[in-house]
Amino acid sequence: MTTRKKILIAGGGIGGLTAAGLLLQSGHEVEVFEQAPELGEVGAGIQVSANATHVLRHLGVLEALASISVRPLRTEFRLHDTAEVVSEILLGDSHEDRFGAPYLQVYRPDILRILELRVRELSPSSIHLGKALIRYEEDVQGITLHFTDGSTAHGDVLIGADGIKSAVRAQMHGNEPANFTGNVAWRVMVPVDKLPPNFQPPIFVNWMGPDKHMVVYWVNGGKLLNFVGCVEKPEWTQEGWAIKAPWDDLKADFAGFHPDVQTMIDAADRDSCYCWALNNRPRLNYWSTERVTLLGDSAHPTLPYMAQGAVMAIEDAAVLMRAIDEFDDLATALKAYEQARIDRTARIVNESTEHARLFHFQTHQEFREAFARKDPSKDRALWLYNYDPLSTPLAVEPA
Ligand SMILES: Cc1cc2nc3c(=O)[nH]c(=O)nc-3n(C[C@H](O)[C@H](O)[C@H](O)COP(=O)(O)OP(=O)(O)OC[C@H]3O[C@@H](n4cnc5c(N)ncnc54)[C@H](O)[C@@H]3O)c2cc1C
Repeated sequence: MTTRKKILIAGGGIGGLTAAGLLLQSGHEVEVFEQAPELGEVGAGIQVSANATHVLRHLGVLEALASISVRPLRTEFRLHDTAEVVSEILLGDSHEDRFGAPYLQVYRPDILRILELRVRELSPSSIHLGKALIRYEEDVQGITLHFTDGSTAHGDVLIGADGIKSAVRAQMHGNEPANFTGNVAWRVMVPVDKLPPNFQPPIFVNWMGPDKHMVVYWVNGGKLLNFVGCVEKPEWTQEGWAIKAPWDDLKADFAGFHPDVQTMIDAADRDSCYCWALNNRPRLNYWSTERVTLLGDSAHPTLPYMAQGAVMAIEDAAVLMRAIDEFDDLATALKAYEQARIDRTARIVNESTEHARLFHFQTHQEFREAFARKDPSKDRALWLYNYDPLSTPLAVEPA
C-alpha cells in the first residue's frame, strides 16, 4: 500500500459502502457520511453479475450474500402475450464457470445490511448518519466537507457516492436538471405464498411488448417475487422510489400481457405499488479533480435495462481502491481511476438506453428480427460480464 490516506465518502448506498469496505480493508482511514438517519434500501430487487461479485468476494461478503440470494438458471426474453422465448442467456453454473463468479438476484435491504456489517466490522465508528453534505472546499492541504447541521469534516480526498442527485457532482459540474427519458418504472413485490405453487422457476423473465416490458425474478432466498414494469409515458414528473401509484393504473398498463403477468399483478398488495419517472443526466467528460471524485450513479446514472447501475458502482469502488493503493499522488490516482472507467461506463449507459428500444417493438416479428441482429446472449459475454475490476489495467495517460 501507498501512504495511508484519510478518505471521506458522501453517500452510504451500495457504491459508497462497497468503496468504504474495500478502502478500509486496504488499510486507509475512512469516514462515510450518509444524509439519512439510518442506512436502508427500498424493498426491491437487484441483480449482480460476475463483474461485481468478484469484488464482493474480495471484500469477504459474497458467501453471506449468496446464502440469502437467488442464483438464477437463465434469463428468458419472452414475447409479452404468447410467452415465446426469442432469446435466452444462461446464468447459474454456466455464468460462474465462464466468468469466475456467480450471478445473484438480491433483495436490496439484504445487500446493504451485509455491506454495512462488513464496514462496521472493519471500523465500528466510520459511518456517520444524518449528515447531508451541502458543499466541499478543496485546497493543497486537503478537503473540508460542510453539512446541513453546520458541522464539518476534514480529510485527504472526497468520494462523491451520493447518487443521481449528487451534491458533489452539482458542485463540480453545475446543477444540470435531470432529463426525463419518457419511461416510468413500476415496482412491486409479491410474497411467494400469494402466488400459485411453482409459479416461476428460479429464472429471470423479461416480458417484452409494445411500448413496455416487465422483468420478473425471485429475491430473498425465493420468498419474494420482484417485478419491475417499464412503460413509455410522455408525461410524468415524479422522481423517487417511494411514490405510490394506483394498482388500477398498473393493471391497465399491462392489459393484454400474458396470464402469468396478470396473476402477479392480481396478487400484488394494492396499496404497495410504486411508480416513478426514469431520468438521465448528461454524460460527464471528467469526474475527478485533484482531491475529489465521483462514483456510481453520481458519475454515470443509467437506465436499468441491463441491470448494471449498482454493478458499475461496485466495479468503480474496486478500481478506485486499486488506483489509490497504486499511486501515492492522489491526483494521479483519481485520474487513473477515471481513465480506467469512463469509456466502459459510457458504453453501459448507452447500451442500456438502446435496450429501451430493443424491449419495446410493436410486433412479434420486429422483436425476432431485432434479437437476430443483436442478441444480448452473445454480446454480453464478450465485453460486459467478462470484465474483472480487480485486474483490469490501470495507467495514467496524458490528458
Ligand atoms: C428499477 C430499477 C432497477 C434496477 N435494477 C438494477 C439491477 O438489477 N442491477 C444493478 O446493478 N443496478 C440496478 N439498478 C440501478 C441501481 O439501483 C443504482 O445504480 C445503484 O443503486 C446506485 O448506487 P449508488 O451507491 O451509486 O447510489 P445510491 O444507491 O443512490 O446511494 C446514494 C446514497 O447517497 C445518499 N446521499 C444523497 N445525497 C447525499 C448528500 N448530499 N449527503 C450525504 N448523503 C447523500 C443517499 O441517501 C443514498 O444513501 C436499478 C435501478 C432502477 C431504478
